[in-house]
Amino acid sequence: MAILDLHLLGSPVLRQQSDPVAVVDAEVRRLIDDLFETMDAAKGVGLAANQVGVARRVAVVGVDDARLVMVNPVLRDAEGRDRAEEGCLSIPDAYGEVTRPERVVLEALDRDGKPYRLEAKGLLARAIQHEIDHLDGILILDRTERAQRKGALKALRRGESYSPPTGDED
Ligand SMILES: [Zn+2]
Repeated sequence: MAILDLHLLGSPVLRQQSDPVAVVDAEVRRLIDDLFETMDAAKGVGLAANQVGVARRVAVVGVDDARLVMVNPVLRDAEGRDRAEEGCLSIPDAYGEVTRPERVVLEALDRDGKPYRLEAKGLLARAIQHEIDHLDGILILDRTERAQRKGALKALRRGESYSPPTGDED
């Protein structure tokens, strides 16, 4: 296993539509193991393959005791609405409020290439959606409100951390 280098905002692979995996072979399993190790080292709750420069539809999620491998993940159902702050390992120190469905039904392949179906809610559902967004080249900056996005990008350029506006200022 190895801790891989994270690709940060500006790296073109983060904006790429990742390719489906044809076979979950030893190479894919090694990628999965490296994603978990890299995610844990960075204290993240999820990591997509293109965040380490590999444009394939592979991602991992680690929320509480859940350790999820997602190969070729698809959302079969989504319901409700939930708004919460999200960060991203590829956009260090930028956070923004993102509204997403509160419950999702996920279908994906596991580390052995076996299909599974999972119903998730709360932080797990949010992490799953965040990682699937990555595989489609979508970042939280695309899902936060305009004012927040501007603030986050300004802070990034200045090398500061960014907190979203509290709401009572224009
Ligand atoms: Zn992310």
